Amino acid sequence: MKEIILIKNGELALKGLNRSSFESTLAKNIKRRLQSLGKFKVIRSQSTITVEPFDESFDMEEAEDRISRIFGIAGYERAAAVEKDMEVILKTTPVYLSEALKNASTFKVEAKRADKTFPLKSPEICCDVGEAVLNAFPHIRVDVKNPDLTIVIEIRENAAYIHGDQKKGAGGMPVGTGGKAALLISGGIDSPVAGWMMAKRGVVLNAVHFASPPFTSPMSEMKVHDLLAKVAKYSGTIKLMTVPFTEIQENIRDKCPEELFTLIMRRYMMRISNILAEKEGCEAIVTGESVGQVASQTLTAMMSTDSVSRLPVLRPLVGMDKNEIVVLSRKIDTFDISIRPFEDCCTVFTPKHPRLHPKADEIEKAELSLDSDALISRAVEGVKQELITF
Ligand code: ATP
Ligand code: MG
Repeated sequence: MKEIILIKNGELALKGLNRSSFESTLAKNIKRRLQSLGKFKVIRSQSTITVEPFDESFDMEEAEDRISRIFGIAGYERAAAVEKDMEVILKTTPVYLSEALKNASTFKVEAKRADKTFPLKSPEICCDVGEAVLNAFPHIRVDVKNPDLTIVIEIRENAAYIHGDQKKGAGGMPVGTGGKAALLISGGIDSPVAGWMMAKRGVVLNAVHFASPPFTSPMSEMKVHDLLAKVAKYSGTIKLMTVPFTEIQENIRDKCPEELFTLIMRRYMMRISNILAEKEGCEAIVTGESVGQVASQTLTAMMSTDSVSRLPVLRPLVGMDKNEIVVLSRKIDTFDISIRPFEDCCTVFTPKHPRLHPKADEIEKAELSLDSDALISRAVEGVKQELITF
């Protein structure tokens, strides 16, 4: 018996050109994500993509796990692909689905007959398979209205597929259909979740991290790596650009009013991110900010950072509560990494009394004391690039 994986596309509302680019990007993403697991074929037909391994060495468990995190997939299931022969189907079904059948107390059978030349009609297939299952598992009953398990027999062109219930996919849009954006990633809880949310809408992620050694330790850069590796399980490979930020922070600390420190620092982050993002062909900046979470995340502060950005600044968490964000960060498995206790560059020089509603001209005046162009170009020159993969 050969085992395959059947994958159903998401976002059914898509039409025309969008639909075909959605499907071809999704198929490419699936190929790329499963590549290291062995040889296999990916076949597209209507709204189903079939993954067909060449031999037994293909790790189906791992493949299933990876598929569960690929955006653009509504549902998926493993299936047995057998000869289109009723005897084989009747013999295989109770064996192949034995685990699920043991755990269910009711079931029903559905037949889909794409090959109209198959000698039995759908109701006859259901009847015969139902009987074979009842014989093999005396504890189970038929319930056509609300069964614990639905067994599906699909008679296709080349083979018959046998499978149980579909598992829920990651949803969203295939990464690559939504453009590219630069994610500002700290070591905190929020920014990895923000990146995940944009990847879910099909956006390719580049990441920008500001590090201030020796005030921030190599362990906090490690943390960013580990966080991105978790996000990459959903988004695919992420290019990380680490910006040396110490000189800028020291200059702000020495030359600007303390209560404006955080805001001015954020404006420099934004200016540098714009330069890096544009070089990479990104169309937006993404941050993990949410209104009111901390003093630097007021609308006034956001307006002030936006005013130095040419690219739109997307803040997918803007209206979420911290606990809602935490739920997502646990779901994508970044929470435990985010709470590791290491300094972020933002916490290093945090002022005691940050200004909540600083005036624009005040900030601009304070920034005049900095040699902006030189500071920015030195930071950009010192950027370190790496690829973070899943
Ligand atoms: P997070 O949990 O994402 O760190 P936070 O609640 O700690 O967020 P801030 O520290 O105010 O909030 O940061 C707000 C946003 O600014 C972050 O979500 C991130 O997008 C960006 N940011 C903060 N620090 C850095 C950094 N060192 N490098 C890159 N981006 C950063
Ligand atoms: Mg932070």
